[in-house]
Amino acid sequence: MNDCIFCMIINNKIPSKKVYENEKVLAFEDIAPQAPIHVIIIPKVHVLESIEDITKENVSIISEIMLAAKKVAKIKGVSQNGYRLINNCGKGAGQTVNHLHFHFIAGKDLGEKIV
Ligand code: AMP
Ligand code: ZN
Repeated sequence: MNDCIFCMIINNKIPSKKVYENEKVLAFEDIAPQAPIHVIIIPKVHVLESIEDITKENVSIISEIMLAAKKVAKIKGVSQNGYRLINNCGKGAGQTVNHLHFHFIAGKDLGEKIV
């Protein structure tokens, strides 16, 4: 998608601080961190705008994202202490970038649990 900011990051058209990548997924630092550690994890292809686009055929990308989250935890040194994965699905949940993504947040100041 030409006008998708996350596709631009994948294609190196705009800079990002990469944390981890493999052939399927990319993890990079959020530009406006909401916690001491705030990483965005995305599939490298723009087939899914949100969880609403998941089907039986493409759901394996979610496993790839979860495996990447574990790698990010190791890289950031928070595997033992813990971390939170958040997905905002749709406008009502505050999704602003329509390229499926999970927020990986961790660190001292995670904020209140709401669920
Ligand atoms: P959401 O609001 O759940 O759609 O999350 C979008 C996230 O993308 C926000 O946390 C933004 O701070 C982040 N973001 C937007 N543009 C960039 C960028 N160029 N580099 C890194 N993160 C970004
Ligand atoms: Zn995209």
